[in-house]
Amino acid sequence: MLSFRLAARSAALFLAPTLAIAQGSPVRAFTGFTLVDGTDRSPVPNATIVVREGRIVAAGPANSVTIPAGAQRVSLAGKTVIPGFINAHGHVNEPKDLRTYAAYGVTTVFSLGGEPASVFAARAEQNTAALDRARVFVAGPVLDPKTPDDARKQVADVAAQKVDIVKIRVDDNLGTTPKMTPEVYRAVIDEAHKRGFRVATHLFYLADAKSLLAAGSDFVAHSVRDADVDADFISSIKRRGVCYSPTLMREVSTFVYESTPDFFADSFFLAHANAEWVRTLQEPARQQAMRASKSAQQYKVALEVAKRNLKKLSDAGVPIAMGTDTGPTGRFQGYFELMEIEMMVKAGLTPRQALASATSAAARCMKLDRELGTIEPGKWADMVVLDANPLTDIANVRRIASVWIAGNQVAR
Ligand SMILES: [Zn+2]
Repeated sequence: MLSFRLAARSAALFLAPTLAIAQGSPVRAFTGFTLVDGTDRSPVPNATIVVREGRIVAAGPANSVTIPAGAQRVSLAGKTVIPGFINAHGHVNEPKDLRTYAAYGVTTVFSLGGEPASVFAARAEQNTAALDRARVFVAGPVLDPKTPDDARKQVADVAAQKVDIVKIRVDDNLGTTPKMTPEVYRAVIDEAHKRGFRVATHLFYLADAKSLLAAGSDFVAHSVRDADVDADFISSIKRRGVCYSPTLMREVSTFVYESTPDFFADSFFLAHANAEWVRTLQEPARQQAMRASKSAQQYKVALEVAKRNLKKLSDAGVPIAMGTDTGPTGRFQGYFELMEIEMMVKAGLTPRQALASATSAAARCMKLDRELGTIEPGKWADMVVLDANPLTDIANVRRIASVWIAGNQVAR
């Protein structure tokens, strides 16, 4: 028995370094932490994760995982490891935004419109074990057709750009602008589906949400904010298996700068915040204008409607995908995603539900779950290391010790 064990061990010693060298990137073994893997499984104390070529090859209790000899060991004693956060509705303005998101544990961003060519290029380069910034998926230009013919032409254009999803807005901005008509958005959705693309829809009103679902919308990219959702909407969204992204922080950003928000004093926020925005958002004239803004006050009320609707839909079993609409001025990438997760809990979700919406559920909703969203063999090793367990207190999502993408530590 003893000699057998020794033989097995020396075989492992021989094999593992060979693999590591042959495949050109280190095998890493993370040890000694509590694993919250993003599935329904209970947290695993004293866990081990083995990563090779950027992907997880094993994850589980230390006594069930064999660490290949020659693996580079990373002790995470006392920490909690969770999957990297997936933002199902952000906006990436330039490639360096992907480092900002990653600094706060957001390891994937589904950018829903307006990306420049440099961000498309970043997407093309990310399928590598050397990655050390957030992954990005793109919608390209938000379509704004005026006729059904124009709609089909615009869909053909973004299809040629190989976008990951098609994006439209159906909104009158609180009655101030014309809204896309049903015949036009039906043409967008029909043409996108014919070409094999999904359609994400920006909306505000319950009536539009129902009509968009009936037309085949594949993703509700904002909360319903004018009215409480009703049984008709709930049964429709469930029947179609469509995911819902609350983007509560979008609402917050429309009124919170009527004074200087508390988070402007948080060093964790300031570490990566856009300094120009921080400066201009503190200008007294600007804050006064927001205080006086009718729309700001309306969106403040809309946020409370959105929170109630999130709770109702979550209770009904509708898949919720964490999204924020970060990227435009005043919507700070990375930090706002952590606030969004906390706000979802304030709206009535459990920490486990909020975490799922920001990891496994977001991955499923955006069709990324073959590669992302949980810590399981075969997936990319995108992970956040926390000083404390967020299932105990969701505020622990802020206590980030380190972030890893494809098993590489993110500079932050
Ligand atoms: Zn958006």
